[in-house]
Amino acid sequence: MDLKKLAERLIPGEYRPLSEYEAMYPPRDLPKGAQVTRLAPSPTGFIHLGNLFVAIANERVAHQSNGVLYLRIEDTDEKRKVEGAVEAVKNALRYFDIRFDEGAEIEGAENAYGPYYQRQRAEIYRAFARDLVGRGLAYPCFCTEEELSALREKQTAEKKITGYYGEYAVCRNLTEEQICANLDAGKPYVIRLRSQGDPERKIAFHDEIKGDITVTENDQDVVILKSDGIPTYHFAHAIDDHFMRTTLVIRGEEWLASLPIHIELFDVLGFRRPAYGHNCSLQKMDGDTRRKLSKRKDPELSLEFYRKEGYFARAVKVYMMTLLNSNFEEWYLKFPDKDLEEFRFSVGKMGKSGALFDLAKLNDISKNELARLSAEEMFEFLRAWAEEYGTEEQKGYFADREYMLRVLNLCMGTSGKKRRKDFVTAKQAAELISYFFRAPVREDEYRVDGKTKGDILRAFGRTYDYADDAQVWFAKVKNVAAELGFAAEMKDYKQNPEAYKGSVSDVAEVLRIAVTGKANTPDLWTIMQILGEKRTRERLCAAE
Ligand code: GLU
Repeated sequence: MDLKKLAERLIPGEYRPLSEYEAMYPPRDLPKGAQVTRLAPSPTGFIHLGNLFVAIANERVAHQSNGVLYLRIEDTDEKRKVEGAVEAVKNALRYFDIRFDEGAEIEGAENAYGPYYQRQRAEIYRAFARDLVGRGLAYPCFCTEEELSALREKQTAEKKITGYYGEYAVCRNLTEEQICANLDAGKPYVIRLRSQGDPERKIAFHDEIKGDITVTENDQDVVILKSDGIPTYHFAHAIDDHFMRTTLVIRGEEWLASLPIHIELFDVLGFRRPAYGHNCSLQKMDGDTRRKLSKRKDPELSLEFYRKEGYFARAVKVYMMTLLNSNFEEWYLKFPDKDLEEFRFSVGKMGKSGALFDLAKLNDISKNELARLSAEEMFEFLRAWAEEYGTEEQKGYFADREYMLRVLNLCMGTSGKKRRKDFVTAKQAAELISYFFRAPVREDEYRVDGKTKGDILRAFGRTYDYADDAQVWFAKVKNVAAELGFAAEMKDYKQNPEAYKGSVSDVAEVLRIAVTGKANTPDLWTIMQILGEKRTRERLCAAE
């Protein structure tokens, strides 16, 4: 069979000699040790925590070594493509400060290794597929979907490994006449690798994350070009990571099973393999069992969730780093004020098996991170969130800057004193401080009965004076307590609880709930000062 002719018939068109591609995409001129990494999402519009997890690792490895991080869009599956997905990926990652040096839609970059959309690279894949057919290392397969599923069923029934390989790879041995007859009949075909592998043979492999592992040689005649001439992930991966001169592929561990295919493809194409690190998946506890985060069940898998809730980007990043590198937490405890980039990230310290993602832990980190902001920084953070995701009412909170800063200073605790850690996310913070901007919604129950509550509010209203300082104010609260049969001093109450209706703390709580709707708030005198006399009195009356 004249394989060259067959190749030309199967993959028609004009192509450059393969050596030209080597010249077009020469090895990168980078300092020694510089790593070239990439993020290669499919444009499905769903960007998730797993993407961020891998992105942070790739970003650190590239930039820490003065290398390059680029963005490649794996759009070979037309059906899964969603409008605006590339912008969405870029925006989502920019929020977490992941910056690409080159790639799809990266403005201002040299972008010399593009195009970075796989659909725009069809010519390269086809040129190499044609070469493989010409060398007898790939062949056309005319099997229909029905034939392939019948094969799968048969293999399953016989408890055989499923797939297109060995004796099952019927098109592997078609004669020239058979192939030509199929082509003449206009039958659609895919191009398959003619695997040279032997499943009895093992390959020792060093994974940068998993360490030394052994994989079995590939013997599957995998599809490399689909019937529309578009490559599969496997083929595009080998060609692109070679010509884009990737040095380290950090990708999800779901790809580990395909590694033997990739090893074989790099070999038959005559390319040097990049190093690989297969990153463990993110898992969570579901009752007593540990499972992978799921798109369907876990809203926290989507990166959009963190934007909408208003998570502070640095907090999410700190948590991701904690999960990525076992020694990060200790470093961060020592140097909480340092730029995260000063941490020496190490691929070797990435977890070998599933990382347990715990939203409660992230919330703790968030509280700490937000508590370190100044009121002005908090203002900007909250405002940016409100502008994008807040309600109209919440957007209005920022109209009076002075007022909001007083609120934030109170709610965060002034720098001299111990800082409060009430804020977890922007959304939660906006809800927490809402009573400063509108009539409170009562969230907590009064501990005293309705009549006593009314007595307390009226008695306090009679004596309340906006001009009172905090001491005088509190002395008045105590007087109200004593007047109505509550202990003015806690210690008196503790010594003899039967003698009182309750203590001054019950009285203060009534005032607190009346004014804020909550039983737990920062200093009530200051809240009343910020609200002003009129609003305070209105609320005291309204709650009677
Ligand atoms: N498009 C693949 C994915 O989204 C990329 C995997 C890789 O990084 O090679 O899973």
